[in-house]
Amino acid sequence: MASLSNGQSESFVKIPTIKFTKLFINGEFVDALSGNTFETIDPRTGEVIARIAEGKKEDVDLAVKAAREAFDNGPWPRLPGSERGRIMMKFADLIDQNIEELAGLDAIDAGKLYTWCKLVDIPQVAGTLRYYAGAADKIHGDVLKMSRELQAYTLREPIGVVGHIIPWNFPSTMFFAKVSPALAAGCTMILKPAEQTPLSALFYAHLAKLAGIPSGVLNVVNGFGPTAGAAISSHMDIDAVSFTGSTEIGREVMQAAARSNLKPVSLELGGKSPLIIFDDADVDKAADLALLGILYNKGEICVASSRVFVQEGIYDEFEKKLVEKSKSWIVGDPFDPKVRQGPQVDKQQFDKILSYIEHGKREGATLLFGGKPVGDKGYYIEPTVFTNVKEDMIIAQDEIFGPVMALMKFKTIEDAIKSANNTKYGLAAGIVTQNLDKANTVSRSIRAGIIWVNCYLAFDKDCPYGGYKMSGFGRDFGLEALHKYLQVKSVVTPIYNSPW
Ligand code: NAD
Repeated sequence: MASLSNGQSESFVKIPTIKFTKLFINGEFVDALSGNTFETIDPRTGEVIARIAEGKKEDVDLAVKAAREAFDNGPWPRLPGSERGRIMMKFADLIDQNIEELAGLDAIDAGKLYTWCKLVDIPQVAGTLRYYAGAADKIHGDVLKMSRELQAYTLREPIGVVGHIIPWNFPSTMFFAKVSPALAAGCTMILKPAEQTPLSALFYAHLAKLAGIPSGVLNVVNGFGPTAGAAISSHMDIDAVSFTGSTEIGREVMQAAARSNLKPVSLELGGKSPLIIFDDADVDKAADLALLGILYNKGEICVASSRVFVQEGIYDEFEKKLVEKSKSWIVGDPFDPKVRQGPQVDKQQFDKILSYIEHGKREGATLLFGGKPVGDKGYYIEPTVFTNVKEDMIIAQDEIFGPVMALMKFKTIEDAIKSANNTKYGLAAGIVTQNLDKANTVSRSIRAGIIWVNCYLAFDKDCPYGGYKMSGFGRDFGLEALHKYLQVKSVVTPIYNSPW
């Protein structure tokens, strides 16, 4: 079974000093107007890392005022796209120069693997910024020949002041999934990080200022959902909201947007993604993929392969492989390079996952392995796999958002498609087969925003990503994401000196 690395005090790398704890409004770090602060907790120990300024409605109002002024009268929306792109490139270079510190902040705040943050997450966010920096001077409309003696051209204009609300599982990735295309489009913005992970966003705000992003363009207000978050979604002077988080809160954000100024929203929400493994798969590789899909980032990833459907001919062998592979899976301090799974983000998440595991047992599923906390300090949970799961069980329907897999058997391709679609969510799906026809048929039949064939979690900045059904709507990443931050304006003019 998974073993615990007890390296918590061995300090494998230097834990970063916390330099920024205030709100970032109009280019300055400021206290919350109320003077209130809240604790951010180290999930390895449950101890306090730092106290962070707690923004509320009045702080959001100030940030929106600064963003509005920067949008209406400031240089950012008026700069040539190439100039915005140049500044964004500088921002990306500064991220490169601070990779270790940024990786350390996400690791300590969210329990993410330090090495992974350093080698993947942080370099990827710099890449995301560069990708959109390159797009900033390629935003243009069309020329249209209208009927009669008219022609029109379209302008793509920045949508205005944008509110971004993000979750805690990928603090850096989420920050740049939202901020990069909005900056390229020429928008100004306010971003609220999740209350569990306020640290890296403030460091990014500092780097944005160093890079030359003008005051008021990017404001960061930490705080809680019902106060700071709700103040964003219901604000009368925010022109669009881009939200990533749970389906439950996504619904509240959309309601608040509708009740206030009808601002457009985009929602990247929860998932219960299927991974379908056919008889012709390489069982060893498929087991690796399934484990990665559910255990990566300790299962705290919206596209986790939490429902794994295996065809009956290889089911028993697949189960054995999973058990075997889980033995070398090390759970422990995320700063230890040997460790593959750190702690869950906080006590609430830890308790929630354990209660789902108990629920699974009560529902009659069989625990193949795992199911218990690891160690007596911090929020570590064993990789957990349930077999004999029925599709309608709670553990096969609810998003657990932890290292818990529901393993199910299927007979035919039709059964697999039907079962995979038996969910309210539609974020992602995986297919493992050597048969192209099967891969194509299933890809077209699953109602989800991204399908991975013979791979899983294969993300990149170029590839749009988002949900079907109750996983939300709108797309992050790719050129698709730019559209969320642009308006189309048509300008119509007569071609000749006609009576129009
Ligand atoms: P959450 O919905 O609880 O919180 C997300 C953000 O919303 C936080 O910043 C929170 O403070 C804020 N918030 C809470 N209440 C609010 C309110 N009433 N009004 C406005 N904002 C409010 O989600 P979480 O627990 O932080 O993250 C986990 C969820 O996020 C999971 O469901 C996961 O699937 C989802 N997620 C989705 C994607 C995606 O791209 N689809 C990516 C990552 C996470």
